[in-house]
Amino acid sequence: MTDRNKNRREFIKISAIGGLALMSQTACASGDEEKNQSVASESTPLSIAVTKPIVVSTWNHGLDANKAAWEILSNDGSALDAVEQGVRVTESDADNMSVGLGGLPDRDGNVTLDACIMDHESNCGAVAFLQEIENPISVARKVMEDTPHVMLAGEGALAFAVEKGFKKTNLLTDKAKEAWQNWLNESEYEPVINSENHDTIGMLALDAEGNLAGACTTSGMAYKLHGRVGDSPIIGAGLFVDNEVGAACATGVGEAVIRTAGSAIVVELMRQGKSPQEACEEAVNRIIAKHKDLSNLQVGFIALDKNGAYGCHSVYAGFNIALRDNNNETMVDAQYEKEWD
Ligand code: ASP
Repeated sequence: MTDRNKNRREFIKISAIGGLALMSQTACASGDEEKNQSVASESTPLSIAVTKPIVVSTWNHGLDANKAAWEILSNDGSALDAVEQGVRVTESDADNMSVGLGGLPDRDGNVTLDACIMDHESNCGAVAFLQEIENPISVARKVMEDTPHVMLAGEGALAFAVEKGFKKTNLLTDKAKEAWQNWLNESEYEPVINSENHDTIGMLALDAEGNLAGACTTSGMAYKLHGRVGDSPIIGAGLFVDNEVGAACATGVGEAVIRTAGSAIVVELMRQGKSPQEACEEAVNRIIAKHKDLSNLQVGFIALDKNGAYGCHSVYAGFNIALRDNNNETMVDAQYEKEWD
């Protein structure tokens, strides 16, 4: 372990500019739970606790994904490598039915994947409606690094992946096929959204150098219309990183997240001085305000700022995030606005 990593928290000093108030929050909760707050008065030197490295990711599958990310972060690796390697674990987990291999298919039985990645220099890459490739996040990274584009979709994305050496794989496992066939019997071929038929992995990391990166990858809404693309591959919707400020990612009903430019809004709210927690709460409330029908409209946001402070919030109860830093390896329940009926 490096010296840097032995120091669990690194304190940086900055000079306060007259009237500037800075806040850092380390609890993923609204209200009065654990907060690290510092308010600078004029010409007072201000110490801000910086937690790094740190990785946060969505849902229970985030715990295993964080382990892979932590291997990299705790050895002074980059946030970009950490988030890519982290979410690959979930993509390759055949038992996980909402991401990558084993993901539930669209209503015609095709597993179609969406993913994006973004680094501390605002480089980004994405793939949408990609089939037959187990690790779309790594294809997204290739789009970012090896092309002048940000997003490739469908057949073009698949051809690009194959050209880059990715192997074609049948992503529809027996378990997912059986679930789809049961759905076909009951659904009358109508795509539906419910709280159980989706769950993206979104991951945000701050590395030992103080750089942020994020990744987001999903098989999207189960039994969706063929060709449907959600928020997860869309930079600014499913994921956004601005290294000057912070990073955010989303999970839940992608249409609502796209409609409100969710992750970009969370980052912009942090830029305006909101804590990561406050920014997630405001983005969730904006989604609530913009939608008349909230039934089954679950959305959750995670945010991580430059100081390693994080927040998370959701429309409905049940959202949780996985956290890993030098002190913790744990799940954190998000605060929420509504109870399920
Ligand atoms: N946001 C994803 C989508 O709409 C699904 C999820 O995160 O639950 O495709």
